[in-house]
Amino acid sequence: MKKSDNSIRIMDEYAIGVDLGGTKISIALVNKMGRVEKYLKIPTCAEQGQEKTIARIKQGIGQIIKEKDFKISEIIGIGIGVPGPMDYRKGVVHCAPNLPGWKEVPLADIIREEFQIPVQIENDANAAAWGEKIFGAARGIEEMVCLTLGTGIGGGLILGGKIYHGKNNVAGEVGHITVNKDGPLCNCGKEGCLEAYSSAAGIKNRVHQRIAELKSGSKGYSLEYNFEDMGLARIFELARQGNVIVKDIVEEAIEYLGIAIAILVNILNPEIIIMVGGITNEGDKLLSPLKEIVFQRAMSSHLADLKIIFGALREYAGTIGAAALLWDTHHF
Ligand SMILES: [Zn+2]
Repeated sequence: MKKSDNSIRIMDEYAIGVDLGGTKISIALVNKMGRVEKYLKIPTCAEQGQEKTIARIKQGIGQIIKEKDFKISEIIGIGIGVPGPMDYRKGVVHCAPNLPGWKEVPLADIIREEFQIPVQIENDANAAAWGEKIFGAARGIEEMVCLTLGTGIGGGLILGGKIYHGKNNVAGEVGHITVNKDGPLCNCGKEGCLEAYSSAAGIKNRVHQRIAELKSGSKGYSLEYNFEDMGLARIFELARQGNVIVKDIVEEAIEYLGIAIAILVNILNPEIIIMVGGITNEGDKLLSPLKEIVFQRAMSSHLADLKIIFGALREYAGTIGAAALLWDTHHF
């Protein structure tokens, strides 16, 4: 049965998409209709260094090909979304804040050498944006912004139907828009970035800091909950219940995200703002107040027909989008 399956496979029907994250590497075998045929998630083990992480990428790709009984020649190529500044033309990762030791890594060449098929790298948020445009909630859309809301906040811009890279290939750093000049320190070294307020890590950091302040205060505060181990969903739930420790932190997270989106709407006049990532699990409880803020702050001329929605590809947006780079090379 498998033999006959192989014989009818058409060579450009399948691609591999990789989403390289600071903690997890996701790898998918994707068909030309955007369907994920096989999906694998493995730890990045970033602390073990660049060579170990790259070895894990190779191993994961090899495993998927083997498990699906593919020949490498049946795969059109490998797309990789990377979490940091890169040069998509040269296939070089300049650095990655969440991957210690990565500096000027010729990732595309290294992976190409191993598998002998085309390899394309792209910024991870751009890859997610591209996935939603080709196979997800933004099909047929030419002007869009995709926000990846996870540990950090990334932005992918599609302008005129193409990925917008900017002069140094680092366009779309939405997470590092200053939303408060006196705000907390961000991982990028600047103060008051959106990411420090509205990312999962930012929200948790602010909650932990508030608890530390309360504990060290003269009143000897005793806490009702163990906030240290609390996930984002629980923090949002407590905020909705009016918990005084987290309520204003969550409200500010949503408000600053809304302000940042309003800035993007005013500047870029997109047709769609798509959000992907962990926080979108909050659903309408996040979307409704967020939309309210955007509609309060953006110019009314920009709001007609503007859609603010969650992605359709869920956690697969990054891998599907990375794979899709191989079929449509006009995205540049
Ligand atoms: Zn920053």
